[in-house]
Amino acid sequence: MKSSLVILYHRQPYDEVIENGKTFYRDKKSPNGIVPTLRSFFNSVDKGTWIAWRQVSKKEQSSFQERVQVEQEGSNYSVLRIPLSPNQVKEFYHITSKEAFWPILHSFPYHFTSESSEWENFKEINRLFAEAACKEAADDALIWVHDYNLWLAPKYIREMKPNARIAFFHHTPFPSVDVFNILPWREEIVSSLLCCDVVGFHIPRYAENFVNVTRSLLPVEVLERQPVQGHFTTSGTALAEPEMVTKLGYNGQEVTIDAFPVGTNPDYIASVLATPEAQKKYEEIKEELHGRKLIIAAGRIDYVKGNQEMLEAFGRLLERRPELHGKVNFLVSCVSAAAGMRVYKTTQNKIEQLVGQINGKFARLDWTPIILFTQPIPFTDLLAYYKAADICWTTPLRDGLNLVAKEYISAHKDESGVLILSEFVGAAVELPQALLTNPYSVTRMDTAIDRALEMPEDEQKERIEAMYKTVSTYDVKYWGDRLLKVFGNIPTK
Ligand code: UDP
Repeated sequence: MKSSLVILYHRQPYDEVIENGKTFYRDKKSPNGIVPTLRSFFNSVDKGTWIAWRQVSKKEQSSFQERVQVEQEGSNYSVLRIPLSPNQVKEFYHITSKEAFWPILHSFPYHFTSESSEWENFKEINRLFAEAACKEAADDALIWVHDYNLWLAPKYIREMKPNARIAFFHHTPFPSVDVFNILPWREEIVSSLLCCDVVGFHIPRYAENFVNVTRSLLPVEVLERQPVQGHFTTSGTALAEPEMVTKLGYNGQEVTIDAFPVGTNPDYIASVLATPEAQKKYEEIKEELHGRKLIIAAGRIDYVKGNQEMLEAFGRLLERRPELHGKVNFLVSCVSAAAGMRVYKTTQNKIEQLVGQINGKFARLDWTPIILFTQPIPFTDLLAYYKAADICWTTPLRDGLNLVAKEYISAHKDESGVLILSEFVGAAVELPQALLTNPYSVTRMDTAIDRALEMPEDEQKERIEAMYKTVSTYDVKYWGDRLLKVFGNIPTK
């Protein structure tokens, strides 16, 4: 029997742990909120396949098990792992994905580097994903491709299985024409995406950028323009959003371009927070704080995340306002990137240096201002920290969405709390009641943290309530339903 849902995501949906020579597949510890969400789509289908890559050394080749059967509550699916050599991983993931695509997607063109030889490897790996997808998929299956690492898979799938139903979701920002077109392989990428039935983005601006890019490169036809459904801030600030969904025609294919941001699962977050384990952690945190205020920042080490600008603003805060010494703790969870990613090493060094400098200058025997974690905080503990935090400070220079912001709001139902949010993340156009700020501006960052620390409790509650309404309405279920609505259903059990 073939699969009715085939998900192509470059990572495996679990952590593979080897203990005493035996392999165990455990829930992912890595900071990536999307994996559990995608896995939950298998609950409603008879048979599903998740296709990912797995690095396989020469020594492991003979014993490598390509397929792993996963039994999770409510569903049964298998994970098909494409074996890649360490060199293929380096070229495909570390170089092409992270040194060529990532900086362009996030509008950091000066970080862009590329080597043409690595492009052939990227194509080959995308072809392998496509081949595996076509073998697994039933005729009426939904083949759902995720993110820029697999930009070329749709084209190969369409060639191998002309009637396939293909959806693509971008989890990153999508830049404007003048930035995207820096990529030397721009036509190839765009014409592959135009082989899909649906291409989805978090917010209308990214969708509109994509439409403009396609029109700048290829003779596409605009078949339809319709008002976007949703809850986006549409006017009044630099965040103004275009309001159209588009259907494009290219090469005989009709492609719907749509915007529907990934959501959190506030009910699940509430149920985790109600567990004795989370409550115990919350009590411990409160006790350790001894009445001090807690500010939290959570995420990965990445130059796009703006950690340097945020830490500098915190350093200035302690400089400007000595009355806060001993009264506030800043918990920064900055998870290290995969080993060997040279592009993140400088960012990590800078963060560690800044934390050292600020703590070195202001710490006392009874108070260390910044607590830096470089290992991921397990999700249950992270929720307890969110709940205990008076302020969540999340100000990336650019970010596709920013789940952390939505998780913080989900953990503060009916409570006070302040969210300082960058104007340059996707979630900003959903959450205008946050303290929106510009991380590039020293004055605006200083004003934002001052306002957060001084905000009256009534105002905090009012803003949280409005944001909770958005986060709970446009939750992860809405995201999935929206895809299916645009796309047509997946054959179910
Ligand atoms: N996260 C985590 N532990 C940590 C730090 C972050 O589990 O110590 C999770 C967090 O809950 C969120 C994800 O990492 O779900 C980060 O998602 P976001 O959209 O903010 O950024 P991304 O890493 O996808 O760019």
